[in-house]
Amino acid sequence: MEIGFVPAIDPPVVQPESAYWFLFQEDRLLVQQAADGGLAPFCAAADALPAPPVRTQYLGWLSGAGERVHCYSGELPPDLVLTNGYAAVDLRQVFEAFDPRLFGLAGRAKQIAHWDRDHQFCGRCATSMTALEHERAKRCPACGLTNYPRLSPAMIVAVTRTNEEGVEQILLARNHRFPIGRYSVVAGFVEPGESLEDCVRREVREEVGVAVDEIRYFGSQPWPFPNSLMVGFTARYAGGEIHVEEAEIAEARWFTADALPQVPPKISIARQLIDWFVAQHGAAGARVEDWRVR
Ligand SMILES: [Zn+2]
Repeated sequence: MEIGFVPAIDPPVVQPESAYWFLFQEDRLLVQQAADGGLAPFCAAADALPAPPVRTQYLGWLSGAGERVHCYSGELPPDLVLTNGYAAVDLRQVFEAFDPRLFGLAGRAKQIAHWDRDHQFCGRCATSMTALEHERAKRCPACGLTNYPRLSPAMIVAVTRTNEEGVEQILLARNHRFPIGRYSVVAGFVEPGESLEDCVRREVREEVGVAVDEIRYFGSQPWPFPNSLMVGFTARYAGGEIHVEEAEIAEARWFTADALPQVPPKISIARQLIDWFVAQHGAAGARVEDWRVR
């Protein structure tokens, strides 16, 4: 039987003997040293936690092999000093340490814990909000304003073209914030009133100055930094010269599949888009790992 996560709002009536606790100190997740020396999420009884959480939220359960493991998110006191093999780490540090299912849960936990923390009071009239039963939402008892966990959709796009020599190329840009030498595909947040396709056209035009068409959906990825949903596309170059928006982009260039610069780590949808391009247009037998970050 496949192990899967079942989201739920209402916690079990009886406190489980052991559960996953995705607890955060600010942006950092509580982890413990695993038997193999790696990092693992905290899985134990509630009374074994290093300190009582400030707030907790029930997430649902992991099911499989006849077992049900309940999962909670929450916050630890920010000034709590962690000892005895416990540490609080940035979520990016557990990308490779956790299996993808647990990493996804940690990202979900971070967003729900932070939403709860940041929406204790009504944004319209400042009354204390009340959590709804059976729904991940809060309502103001005074004015009725309802608040749901916020997601910020962002598009990310691999723009490709065939150059004058008939060779396929991908457009990659260097953001000022990137580590030195790293390039990636273009991305940006969706604005109110804008379709995803509008956002692809606008962001590519604003950031690198070119027009695109043949916009196709590629896939999506929750990105809990802090609450994005990355929606991936491919698109074809449709005209214009590269002209970067200097406030954000240091440089943008066309690359062929056999001469790529450093690109983002495998976990990201940015990398999956670049890998897609390389799989289609790289040299026969080339492995995508050949272009891993060094
Ligand atoms: Zn209100």
